[in-house]
Amino acid sequence: METMEKAAVNVTEASVTGRMSTFNHEQLVFCQDNETGLRSIIAIHNTTLGPAVGGTRMWAYGTEEEAMTDALRLSRGMTYKNALAGLNIGGGKAVIIGDARKQKSEALMRRFGKFVNSCGGKYITAEDVGISTRDMEYVRLETKHVVGLPEYLGGSGDPSPVTAYGVYMGMKASQKELSGSDSLSGKKVVVQGVGHVGEYLVEHLVKEGADVTICDIYEDRVNAVVKKHGVKAVDAKDVYDIPMDIYSPCALGATINDDTLDRLKCSIVCGAANNQLKDERVHGQEVLKRGILYAPDYLVNAGGIINCYWEIVGYNRNAALAQAEGIYQTALNIFNISKTNSIPTYLAANQLAEARIASIAKLKSTM
Ligand code: NAD
Repeated sequence: METMEKAAVNVTEASVTGRMSTFNHEQLVFCQDNETGLRSIIAIHNTTLGPAVGGTRMWAYGTEEEAMTDALRLSRGMTYKNALAGLNIGGGKAVIIGDARKQKSEALMRRFGKFVNSCGGKYITAEDVGISTRDMEYVRLETKHVVGLPEYLGGSGDPSPVTAYGVYMGMKASQKELSGSDSLSGKKVVVQGVGHVGEYLVEHLVKEGADVTICDIYEDRVNAVVKKHGVKAVDAKDVYDIPMDIYSPCALGATINDDTLDRLKCSIVCGAANNQLKDERVHGQEVLKRGILYAPDYLVNAGGIINCYWEIVGYNRNAALAQAEGIYQTALNIFNISKTNSIPTYLAANQLAEARIASIAKLKSTM
């Protein structure tokens, strides 16, 4: 008892366990290997709903502190995303410190795979920024606790079609909330970024008769999508200034900020990009004040993790798409909580995710 009290006293805000206790992270695994130069942190935030699932990011972090902060932040984000999507998995994330173009090697990825394996299935990894499908194939040689593999390795393949379908469902639910009808026919939708997800989204929108405008920083992408889908294009720098009903960020995060909010004339924001609100508390409140309906990014872009989840339980693309369709109803529930309690939609989403985790934790404690 005395020892425990002493330990509690020693946990200062600056200590690692102190940092972990801020958002109640369960476990941090620091991985190091001189031979391959691997330096990595695996963060397991919460496993109430199941094993912690989340991608591995390789980034040239300036300091270990930065890498740890990112791992803590991203793993917590995965707990919320997985819970809100109704998946029976918890939240985790791994970071590898280093320049992915210069420091990555087969041996480094395999060594990382061994560390993932040492977690015994409590953490399941996948691709993220700086990590390719090929890298995950190396990880797979050392552990079975990896998802998002190509189809030829028995994996679920490209998650983008499922992500795009989820965004499309979120957009329809947003339109329903605003007008009572979920039809997007004739709606002016601007899709910013026509990469993997953006182009599949354009396909759904065109099929439904929406009036679609796209932009991208690569001219060849713009030309290809305009030609294939018969949509209009706008210069990437003018995207916030044209008239539109729906703004769909499918490229970068933080595009809802002080500058763009003064320019955007839309009634709905719904897209695939992560962390769209530059400052969640400030800009989440600001969109509410301006009467813009913001479909929480981590809800509507959950198709990717839904696809991975089905790889864990036995892959079935139709089941993944059916679950992504559920984003429609969850979005409506969130809008309802937001309206009832006069709170921003991002906060309503967080509350819904927290309520699910709390209810399952309670159930487990009585079993
Ligand atoms: P991608 O890299 O294939 O496509 C992004 C596109 O955005 C590219 O064509 C790029 O040229 C363009 N772009 C970059 N900066 C731009 C700018 N300033 N203006 C206009 N266009 C710009 O990525 P993706 O897989 O389609 O993912 C899109 C977004 O959705 C990313 O933020 C990603 O993190 C997020 N996301 C993707 C998935 C998925 O399943 N792929 C799942 C969840 C979230």
